[in-house]
Amino acid sequence: MSKPRVAFLGLGIMGGGMARRLLGAGFPLTVYNRNPDRAAPLVAEGAKLAASPRAAAANAEIVICMVADDTASRALWLGENGALAGAPKGAILLDSSTLSVGWVRELAEAAAKHGCEFLDVPVTGTKPHAANGELTFLVGGSAAVLEKVRPALAVMSKTITHLGPVGSGALLKLINNFMCGVQVVALAEALAFIERSGLDRAKALEILVGGAPGSPLVKVVSARMTTPDYTPNFMLKHLTKDLRYAVAEGASHGVPLATAAAAVEVLQKAVAAGQGDLDMAAVVELLRKR
Ligand code: NAP
Repeated sequence: MSKPRVAFLGLGIMGGGMARRLLGAGFPLTVYNRNPDRAAPLVAEGAKLAASPRAAAANAEIVICMVADDTASRALWLGENGALAGAPKGAILLDSSTLSVGWVRELAEAAAKHGCEFLDVPVTGTKPHAANGELTFLVGGSAAVLEKVRPALAVMSKTITHLGPVGSGALLKLINNFMCGVQVVALAEALAFIERSGLDRAKALEILVGGAPGSPLVKVVSARMTTPDYTPNFMLKHLTKDLRYAVAEGASHGVPLATAAAAVEVLQKAVAAGQGDLDMAAVVELLRKR
């Protein structure tokens, strides 16, 4: 059976890897990126380049968006020459970006008015997982629609978990990332504390990383902080955005996310210091400075 035609919007760290997985698996692929230079490698490998999200979606059966935040997602779906205007009725629209639940629900309504199905499909995993098809999809929306797009999601992932109605994937993703963000900031504070107090850093980290605080995230990020290597896997500015969305979402459920709010304060200082485009591990630099 021929594979469905896919339009992929947003070829950043994550989107680039995900789109390449689809192309490699034989899905006819049209791509769009705001900065078209970023699409060049995929076009060289056989993807078609579209000049706008609308043009990319025009002939697609599945449209996938993977961009920075609510503002970018809104621009690509609903902006001038947005994908929704171009998508054929009956197309299935997916957004994999980490977004606020409110925007995801608004987008699902706009899709329904246009005669399209919509699923929120944010991911856990980072750059290498995207490149190697090892992401985890957190899916919100109709289970029947998920079955229609499962073959496309499967080439990008090791796990696909259906969580409930539209917005459920976005919600769990914010909960996931607020816990990650709090850990990264706590680790940065702990490391600065160790370094300034004169403890033996290698010995101290061996205890922490090998003990109860040594989550998979703490293991990976502590290595980046000590090298140091801030080549972006997950940019600090995106983590800050995720925690901001999580704090607002928690408040709407009557749960004040005090630890996330405190982490946002630290992260925002790092963004203001010009570290937003570096890996999230760079947050330690601010705390290292005397
Ligand atoms: P990235 O490398 O910064 O890529 C961001 C993408 O969004 C680029 O294609 C960029 O286009 C586009 N974009 C940004 N603002 C835009 C706007 N106003 N209008 C149109 N396009 C815009 O980010 P990423 O790491 O791939 O992350 C993408 C999403 O996945 C984010 O929501 C992030 O929170 C989430 N996420 C990331 C990771 C990770 O480890 N990196 C893991 C899970 C989820 P240009 O190239 O033109 O700038």
